[in-house]
Amino acid sequence: MIVRKSRSELEAMREGGRITAACLRLLSENVRPGITTKELDRVAEEFIRGRGGRPEFKGYEGFPASICASPNNMIVHGIPGNYRLREGDIISLDVGVRYEGFVTDSATTVAVGEVPAETKALLDVTRRCLVAATEQVRAGGHLGDIGHAIQSVAEPEGYGVVRDLVSHGVGRRMHEDPQIPNYGKRGTGPRLLPGMTFAIEPMITLGTYEIRLDKRDGWSIYTADGSLAAHYEHTIAVTEDGPWVLTREEPESAEKSA
Ligand code: MG
Ligand code: MG
Repeated sequence: MIVRKSRSELEAMREGGRITAACLRLLSENVRPGITTKELDRVAEEFIRGRGGRPEFKGYEGFPASICASPNNMIVHGIPGNYRLREGDIISLDVGVRYEGFVTDSATTVAVGEVPAETKALLDVTRRCLVAATEQVRAGGHLGDIGHAIQSVAEPEGYGVVRDLVSHGVGRRMHEDPQIPNYGKRGTGPRLLPGMTFAIEPMITLGTYEIRLDKRDGWSIYTADGSLAAHYEHTIAVTEDGPWVLTREEPESAEKSA
């Protein structure tokens, strides 16, 4: 069942979303050669708690940290640790904040110093996938429109769209119905209705869409072919007035839409 939120519940999620967004900005500002992912995790946890939120990832199914930090060919779910960022890396940072009973979930991929043009293009296409998907988070549309939009941006340009990990409903729980594949057919799946809230998260690779779980830690997910991967995510509400991106810092009304 897809849980719909009331206007006041969406407002609460919006407040939490500001914390999530500010946390990701702070992390991005701290990304530099030499910093460890564990240090980034500490920055995030202190910030989230200082703003009255709770890092939702910590303890989630036993996950040991407040953020996911996934460098280079790691797609998602990286456990922060002693990995030290290097010039030319990319690092995907994923943050979930619980605030006033609701979760918001957002991610970004950041270049560490100068990166090759091919890497910049990967980040760019993944951002464009998220923008295209956001436009489909609208009342009257279908769930399949979202994945279709992502696939239609990435695949014609030769990128891989990860299939075994999905976008998802989000609200009182981090993972609610529905699961939303990042590929699909337009006009298929449930109708989108006001009050639905989704964490839309394209994961795009320079290679194929196959993935590999690191069995040593049980969390880290890599591209199977070792290619670079990028990951951007926003929590977005369906409203009467169009998509409402909840995980942004700047004031934004539903009226102004995406
Ligand atoms: Mg996330
Ligand atoms: Mg998510």
